[in-house]
Amino acid sequence: MNAVPPNKTARVFCIANQKGGVGKTTTAINLAASLAIHNQRVLLIDLDPQGNATMGSGIDKSGLTSNLYQVLIGDATIAQTRVRSESGKYDVLPANRELSGAEMDLVQMEERERQLKMAIDTIRTDYDFVLIDCPPTLSLLTLNGLAAAHGVIIPMQCEYFALEGLSDLVNTIKRVHRNINDDLRIIGLLRVMFDPRMTLQQQVSSQLEAHFGDKVFKAVVPRNVRLAEAPSHGMPGVVYDRNSRGAQAYLAFGKELIKRVKALD
Ligand code: ATP
Ligand code: MG
Repeated sequence: MNAVPPNKTARVFCIANQKGGVGKTTTAINLAASLAIHNQRVLLIDLDPQGNATMGSGIDKSGLTSNLYQVLIGDATIAQTRVRSESGKYDVLPANRELSGAEMDLVQMEERERQLKMAIDTIRTDYDFVLIDCPPTLSLLTLNGLAAAHGVIIPMQCEYFALEGLSDLVNTIKRVHRNINDDLRIIGLLRVMFDPRMTLQQQVSSQLEAHFGDKVFKAVVPRNVRLAEAPSHGMPGVVYDRNSRGAQAYLAFGKELIKRVKALD
Protein backbone atom coordinates (compact mmCIF):
# COMPACT_ATOMS: atom_id res chain seq x y z
CA MET A 1 0.00 0.00 0.00
CA ASN A 2 1.41 3.41 -0.95
CA ALA A 3 0.97 6.01 1.77
CA VAL A 4 2.70 8.70 -0.30
CA PRO A 5 2.80 9.43 -4.02
CA PRO A 6 5.20 6.99 -5.75
CA ASN A 7 7.52 9.77 -6.93
CA LYS A 8 8.34 10.70 -3.35
CA THR A 9 11.60 9.37 -2.01
CA ALA A 10 12.36 7.90 1.38
CA ARG A 11 13.30 9.84 4.47
CA VAL A 12 16.50 8.37 5.85
CA PHE A 13 17.04 8.41 9.61
CA CYS A 14 19.89 7.09 11.74
CA ILE A 15 19.10 5.72 15.17
CA ALA A 16 22.31 6.67 16.91
CA ASN A 17 23.97 7.08 20.28
CA GLN A 18 27.59 6.10 20.82
CA LYS A 19 26.71 4.84 24.27
CA GLY A 20 26.19 1.08 24.31
CA GLY A 21 22.99 -0.64 25.36
CA VAL A 22 20.78 2.45 25.46
CA GLY A 23 17.99 1.01 23.30
CA LYS A 24 19.04 1.90 19.75
CA THR A 25 18.25 -1.49 18.23
CA THR A 26 15.02 -1.91 20.20
CA THR A 27 13.97 1.51 18.92
CA ALA A 28 15.01 0.76 15.32
CA ILE A 29 13.09 -2.56 15.19
CA ASN A 30 9.97 -1.28 16.91
CA LEU A 31 9.90 1.98 14.99
CA ALA A 32 10.21 0.04 11.71
CA ALA A 33 7.31 -2.22 12.69
CA SER A 34 5.26 0.68 14.05
CA LEU A 35 5.69 2.64 10.79
CA ALA A 36 4.71 -0.49 8.84
CA ILE A 37 1.55 -0.80 10.96
CA HIS A 38 0.86 2.85 10.06
CA ASN A 39 1.03 1.82 6.35
CA GLN A 40 4.53 3.10 5.62
CA ARG A 41 7.02 1.24 3.40
CA VAL A 42 10.14 0.72 5.50
CA LEU A 43 13.70 -0.52 5.01
CA LEU A 44 15.69 -1.18 8.18
CA ILE A 45 19.46 -1.15 7.62
CA ASP A 46 21.52 -3.06 10.19
CA LEU A 47 24.78 -1.08 10.40
CA ASP A 48 26.06 -3.05 13.39
CA PRO A 49 28.23 -6.20 13.03
CA GLN A 50 26.43 -7.55 16.13
CA GLY A 51 23.46 -8.14 13.77
CA ASN A 52 20.91 -7.58 16.54
CA ALA A 53 18.48 -5.68 14.34
CA THR A 54 18.67 -8.54 11.82
CA MET A 55 17.97 -11.26 14.40
CA GLY A 56 15.32 -9.21 16.20
CA SER A 57 13.49 -8.89 12.89
CA GLY A 58 13.31 -12.69 12.67
CA ILE A 59 16.14 -13.13 10.14
CA ASP A 60 18.90 -15.68 10.70
CA LYS A 61 22.12 -13.69 10.35
CA SER A 62 24.25 -16.81 9.76
CA GLY A 63 22.23 -18.06 6.78
CA LEU A 64 22.63 -15.03 4.50
CA THR A 65 23.96 -15.21 0.93
CA SER A 66 25.00 -11.55 1.13
CA ASN A 67 24.79 -8.82 3.72
CA LEU A 68 25.55 -5.13 4.18
CA TYR A 69 29.30 -5.84 3.98
CA GLN A 70 29.09 -6.86 0.30
CA VAL A 71 26.89 -3.83 -0.41
CA LEU A 72 29.40 -1.41 1.16
CA ILE A 73 32.36 -2.76 -0.78
CA GLY A 74 30.38 -2.80 -4.03
CA ASP A 75 30.05 -6.57 -4.47
CA ALA A 76 26.23 -6.61 -4.17
CA THR A 77 23.30 -4.19 -4.42
CA ILE A 78 20.66 -3.48 -1.81
CA ALA A 79 18.05 -4.94 -4.20
CA GLN A 80 19.97 -8.26 -4.20
CA THR A 81 20.59 -8.28 -0.46
CA ARG A 82 17.44 -7.07 1.30
CA VAL A 83 15.28 -9.62 3.09
CA ARG A 84 11.67 -9.35 4.23
CA SER A 85 10.88 -9.38 7.94
CA GLU A 86 7.70 -11.45 7.82
CA SER A 87 6.88 -10.67 11.44
CA GLY A 88 7.54 -6.92 11.13
CA LYS A 89 6.24 -6.36 7.57
CA TYR A 90 9.28 -4.31 6.56
CA ASP A 91 12.47 -5.01 4.59
CA VAL A 92 15.85 -5.52 6.25
CA LEU A 93 19.33 -4.97 4.88
CA PRO A 94 20.94 -7.54 7.16
CA ALA A 95 24.36 -7.67 8.82
CA ASN A 96 26.55 -10.11 10.66
CA ARG A 97 30.14 -10.29 11.95
CA GLU A 98 31.49 -10.05 8.41
CA LEU A 99 30.58 -6.36 8.54
CA SER A 100 33.33 -5.69 11.07
CA GLY A 101 35.82 -6.17 8.21
CA ALA A 102 34.22 -3.34 6.27
CA GLU A 103 36.12 -0.64 8.19
CA MET A 104 39.45 -1.87 6.80
CA ASP A 105 38.17 -2.20 3.24
CA LEU A 106 36.44 1.18 3.33
CA VAL A 107 39.55 3.03 4.48
CA GLN A 108 41.22 2.13 1.19
CA MET A 109 38.29 3.27 -0.95
CA GLU A 110 37.63 6.68 -2.45
CA GLU A 111 34.58 8.40 -0.96
CA ARG A 112 34.79 5.93 1.87
CA GLU A 113 32.14 7.64 3.97
CA ARG A 114 29.65 7.88 1.10
CA GLN A 115 29.31 4.21 0.13
CA LEU A 116 26.08 3.63 2.05
CA LYS A 117 24.53 6.81 0.67
CA MET A 118 25.32 5.72 -2.90
CA ALA A 119 23.76 2.32 -2.25
CA ILE A 120 20.61 3.90 -0.75
CA ASP A 121 20.30 6.18 -3.80
CA THR A 122 19.42 3.08 -5.88
CA ILE A 123 16.33 2.16 -3.80
CA ARG A 124 15.11 5.55 -2.52
CA THR A 125 11.78 5.43 -4.33
CA ASP A 126 10.94 1.97 -2.96
CA TYR A 127 10.32 3.26 0.58
CA ASP A 128 8.76 5.99 2.70
CA PHE A 129 11.33 5.50 5.47
CA VAL A 130 14.83 4.06 5.61
CA LEU A 131 15.99 3.53 9.21
CA ILE A 132 19.64 2.86 10.03
CA ASP A 133 20.50 1.06 13.28
CA CYS A 134 23.97 2.40 14.17
CA PRO A 135 26.61 0.60 16.25
CA PRO A 136 27.69 2.07 19.61
CA THR A 137 30.74 3.81 18.13
CA LEU A 138 31.58 6.91 16.16
CA SER A 139 33.37 4.76 13.56
CA LEU A 140 33.59 4.83 9.77
CA LEU A 141 30.46 2.66 9.69
CA THR A 142 28.51 5.20 11.74
CA LEU A 143 29.94 7.96 9.55
CA ASN A 144 28.50 6.16 6.51
CA GLY A 145 25.13 6.15 8.26
CA LEU A 146 25.29 9.86 9.14
CA ALA A 147 26.45 10.76 5.63
CA ALA A 148 23.41 9.00 4.17
CA ALA A 149 20.76 10.40 6.51
CA HIS A 150 18.42 13.37 6.60
CA GLY A 151 18.37 13.19 10.34
CA VAL A 152 19.24 11.46 13.56
CA ILE A 153 16.92 10.00 16.16
CA ILE A 154 18.69 9.70 19.50
CA PRO A 155 17.30 7.20 22.00
CA MET A 156 18.47 7.91 25.52
CA GLN A 157 18.02 6.81 29.06
CA CYS A 158 17.33 9.57 31.54
CA GLU A 159 20.45 9.03 33.61
CA TYR A 160 22.97 11.50 34.90
CA PHE A 161 25.77 10.65 32.44
CA ALA A 162 23.40 10.52 29.48
CA LEU A 163 23.62 14.28 29.07
CA GLU A 164 27.40 14.22 29.08
CA GLY A 165 27.53 11.58 26.32
CA LEU A 166 25.04 13.57 24.30
CA SER A 167 27.45 16.47 23.74
CA ASP A 168 29.96 14.17 21.95
CA LEU A 169 27.24 12.93 19.65
CA VAL A 170 25.87 16.42 19.00
CA ASN A 171 29.40 17.62 18.13
CA THR A 172 29.91 14.71 15.73
CA ILE A 173 26.57 15.46 14.06
CA LYS A 174 27.60 19.13 13.70
CA ARG A 175 30.94 18.10 12.15
CA VAL A 176 29.28 15.75 9.67
CA HIS A 177 26.76 18.48 8.84
CA ARG A 178 29.61 20.93 8.13
CA ASN A 179 31.92 18.63 6.19
CA ILE A 180 29.98 15.79 4.58
CA ASN A 181 26.21 16.16 4.64
CA ASP A 182 24.43 19.48 5.07
CA ASP A 183 21.02 17.75 5.06
CA LEU A 184 21.79 16.20 8.42
CA ARG A 185 19.91 17.41 11.48
CA ILE A 186 18.76 16.10 14.81
CA ILE A 187 15.17 14.96 14.37
CA GLY A 188 14.64 14.33 18.03
CA LEU A 189 15.54 12.74 21.34
CA LEU A 190 13.52 9.74 22.46
CA ARG A 191 13.36 8.88 26.14
CA VAL A 192 13.57 5.11 26.51
CA MET A 193 13.64 2.54 29.36
CA PHE A 194 11.92 5.23 31.38
CA ASP A 195 10.98 4.53 34.97
CA PRO A 196 8.78 7.36 36.30
CA ARG A 197 9.21 6.13 39.90
CA MET A 198 12.83 7.25 39.86
CA THR A 199 13.22 10.89 40.83
CA LEU A 200 16.54 11.22 39.01
CA GLN A 201 14.96 10.07 35.75
CA GLN A 202 12.20 12.64 36.12
CA GLN A 203 14.77 15.35 36.79
CA VAL A 204 16.90 14.43 33.77
CA SER A 205 13.76 14.22 31.65
CA SER A 206 12.78 17.77 32.68
CA GLN A 207 16.33 18.99 31.99
CA LEU A 208 16.14 17.49 28.52
CA GLU A 209 12.87 19.28 27.81
CA ALA A 210 14.30 22.55 29.11
CA HIS A 211 17.47 22.23 27.00
CA PHE A 212 16.11 20.74 23.78
CA GLY A 213 12.47 21.89 23.80
CA ASP A 214 10.53 20.54 20.82
CA LYS A 215 13.41 18.25 19.89
CA VAL A 216 12.28 15.92 22.69
CA PHE A 217 9.63 13.54 21.39
CA LYS A 218 6.39 13.52 23.38
CA ALA A 219 6.25 9.72 23.29
CA VAL A 220 8.15 8.16 26.20
CA VAL A 221 9.10 4.46 26.09
CA PRO A 222 8.82 2.83 29.52
CA ARG A 223 11.03 0.04 30.78
CA ASN A 224 8.94 -2.95 29.76
CA VAL A 225 9.94 -6.60 29.86
CA ARG A 226 7.83 -7.50 26.80
CA LEU A 227 10.13 -5.35 24.64
CA ALA A 228 13.15 -7.24 25.98
CA GLU A 229 11.53 -10.65 25.43
CA ALA A 230 10.43 -10.04 21.84
CA PRO A 231 13.82 -10.45 20.03
CA SER A 232 14.19 -14.05 21.23
CA HIS A 233 10.93 -14.75 19.38
CA GLY A 234 12.26 -13.02 16.23
CA MET A 235 9.56 -10.39 16.47
CA PRO A 236 9.35 -6.66 17.11
CA GLY A 237 7.77 -5.91 20.50
CA VAL A 238 4.89 -4.09 18.81
CA VAL A 239 3.95 -7.37 17.10
CA TYR A 240 4.84 -9.76 19.94
CA ASP A 241 2.54 -8.05 22.44
CA ARG A 242 0.82 -5.11 20.83
CA ASN A 243 -1.10 -4.18 23.97
CA SER A 244 1.94 -3.97 26.24
CA ARG A 245 2.89 -0.52 27.48
CA GLY A 246 6.19 -0.65 25.59
CA ALA A 247 4.47 -1.54 22.30
CA GLN A 248 1.87 1.19 22.77
CA ALA A 249 4.66 3.74 23.32
CA TYR A 250 6.44 2.73 20.10
CA LEU A 251 3.15 2.84 18.18
CA ALA A 252 2.60 6.38 19.47
CA PHE A 253 6.18 7.26 18.60
CA GLY A 254 5.70 6.08 14.99
CA LYS A 255 2.63 8.28 14.67
CA GLU A 256 4.46 11.26 16.15
CA LEU A 257 7.40 10.79 13.77
CA ILE A 258 5.13 10.66 10.70
CA LYS A 259 3.56 13.93 11.86
CA ARG A 260 6.94 15.54 12.50
CA VAL A 261 8.23 14.49 9.08
CA LYS A 262 5.14 15.92 7.37
CA ALA A 263 5.88 19.24 9.08
CA LEU A 264 9.39 19.19 7.53
CA ASP A 265 7.98 18.99 3.97
P1 ATP B 1 24.22 -1.64 21.48
O1 ATP B 1 24.87 -0.35 21.83
O2 ATP B 1 24.92 -2.86 22.00
O3 ATP B 1 23.90 -1.73 20.02
P2 ATP B 1 21.51 -0.79 21.86
O4 ATP B 1 21.70 0.66 22.15
O5 ATP B 1 21.11 -1.15 20.49
O6 ATP B 1 22.81 -1.62 22.26
P3 ATP B 1 19.38 -2.48 22.76
O7 ATP B 1 20.07 -3.69 22.25
O8 ATP B 1 18.19 -2.00 22.02
O9 ATP B 1 20.44 -1.30 22.91
O10 ATP B 1 18.94 -2.65 24.27
C1 ATP B 1 19.84 -3.09 25.27
C2 ATP B 1 19.10 -4.07 26.19
O11 ATP B 1 18.03 -3.41 26.83
C3 ATP B 1 18.48 -5.23 25.43
O12 ATP B 1 18.59 -6.38 26.22
C4 ATP B 1 17.03 -4.81 25.26
O13 ATP B 1 16.15 -5.91 25.17
C5 ATP B 1 16.79 -4.04 26.53
N1 ATP B 1 15.79 -2.98 26.34
C6 ATP B 1 15.78 -1.99 25.41
N2 ATP B 1 14.73 -1.17 25.57
C7 ATP B 1 14.02 -1.65 26.63
C8 ATP B 1 12.83 -1.23 27.31
N3 ATP B 1 12.15 -0.15 26.93
N4 ATP B 1 12.43 -1.96 28.37
C9 ATP B 1 13.13 -3.04 28.77
N5 ATP B 1 14.24 -3.49 28.20
C10 ATP B 1 14.70 -2.80 27.14
MG1 MG C 1 22.24 -2.13 18.97
